[in-house]
Amino acid sequence: MNLEKMLEYQKIDQEIYKVELDLNRSKEMARINNFKNQLSLAQNTLLKLNKETEELFHTIETLEKDILNSSPEKGFAENANTPEKVNSAEQTLNECLESLATIEKESKRAFDRLTYISREAAKQYEVGRHLSGEHKKAKEQYNLLLSKIREEHKHHFEQLNELASQIDPKLMAKYKHLRDHRRMPAIVPYMGGNCAACGMDISIEVSEKLKTSGDLAECPNCRRLVYLK
Ligand SMILES: [Zn+2]
Repeated sequence: MNLEKMLEYQKIDQEIYKVELDLNRSKEMARINNFKNQLSLAQNTLLKLNKETEELFHTIETLEKDILNSSPEKGFAENANTPEKVNSAEQTLNECLESLATIEKESKRAFDRLTYISREAAKQYEVGRHLSGEHKKAKEQYNLLLSKIREEHKHHFEQLNELASQIDPKLMAKYKHLRDHRRMPAIVPYMGGNCAACGMDISIEVSEKLKTSGDLAECPNCRRLVYLK
């Protein structure tokens, strides 16, 4: 019967599932995740620097326009034939010089920041390259461990393949879905009105569907499949 095969499958698969959980908690996996996190930090820093560079270019463009606007109008000192007019021309010139000095200061600040950014970006890029290499190495180590485990459990995988061919694909798909969502065991007995996994009283929702031994229903609480023994 389909369900019996499915339960047999689940029993063997639980062994593999346990190994998978151990593998996820292994130091190899921790190393991979650590490098991945560091790598994403370096990438974020580079993105931020890139954004700031764009802003600085925009600032520099604005400053260039300001320079043009700060230049005194052509002929501003013409006809300065009275002391008042000379004074006024002098004042205009001083104001222009002052604003040019401010622009110069702001430009210097922008260019200094760009120099800093380009150095920092180069540094982050190197960090990223190093981390990518380490991440790759950690992944290789993990893969070695994985193939070792696969080899050790070869007989289990063979048994699973054999059983899978005798199980209803729909039931199998549901099982895989639950397994992917870490609801293991995925198929549990219906115990006196309760789901054996989550313990919820589900008699109202499922009792109609569970009439004869082997009948299946979904637990409305944890979504596992419950079966009648
Ligand atoms: Zn449940």
